Amino acid sequence: MPRKRGSRGSTARSQQIEAGLVSLDRSRGPLFREKEDEGKSFRPDGQRDPVRCQRSENKMRISDLEAIDIARAFSEKPHLRGKGDEVLQRVGRSLSYIGDTHKPQRFDCPLLEEGKCMVHRIAKPIECLAELPDGGFSSDGHRSLERRDQLNNELYGNRWEFKAIPLMLARYMMDREGPASGKSGSTLRKEQNRVEQRRASRSNDPRQGSGPA
Ligand code: SF4
Repeated sequence: MPRKRGSRGSTARSQQIEAGLVSLDRSRGPLFREKEDEGKSFRPDGQRDPVRCQRSENKMRISDLEAIDIARAFSEKPHLRGKGDEVLQRVGRSLSYIGDTHKPQRFDCPLLEEGKCMVHRIAKPIECLAELPDGGFSSDGHRSLERRDQLNNELYGNRWEFKAIPLMLARYMMDREGPASGKSGSTLRKEQNRVEQRRASRSNDPRQGSGPA
């Protein structure tokens, strides 16, 4: 039987996906720092203008790795747990008027709740984060977009896709046994940072030297 894209066929495969999610999350860092630059007229909360997330303007597409990150966030982040069903209801509404195609098409983003992106600081699609108020991208934005593509290529070769957010969320949020099961990139990155900090403080502690000769 052919193995599903990114399915947990082996520990090694799971580790590759986790490493990809951590790198994806790291690529968001420069974009959050960019939003602190008042000269670029970002909204004070760093969110995308909600009008840009609605059907009149929104054609955002995401990659497989980004959709896995979002699906994982809904199963493990405490403030998102239990909200997956309402997101899937909105996904269903969007799917009633968009087609299963790679082409850009307009839709209400199912992740928009009360004018805010539900995954803003957690698992936000790179392009949503990289978009400047004038619709363009900075050099940091371009770098993060390239990194996203590179990470998908490393995991899936040429078998990954860009599709409208509802199509990709339907693929991964409805398949709890597949690659969407596990921790999201931001959680994994924070855990990795904690381990590295503990290791660094142990190596700086004179009591943890090389021991008696
Ligand atoms: S993921 Fe968030 S920022 Fe991107 S279109 Fe949806 S609500 Fe807007």
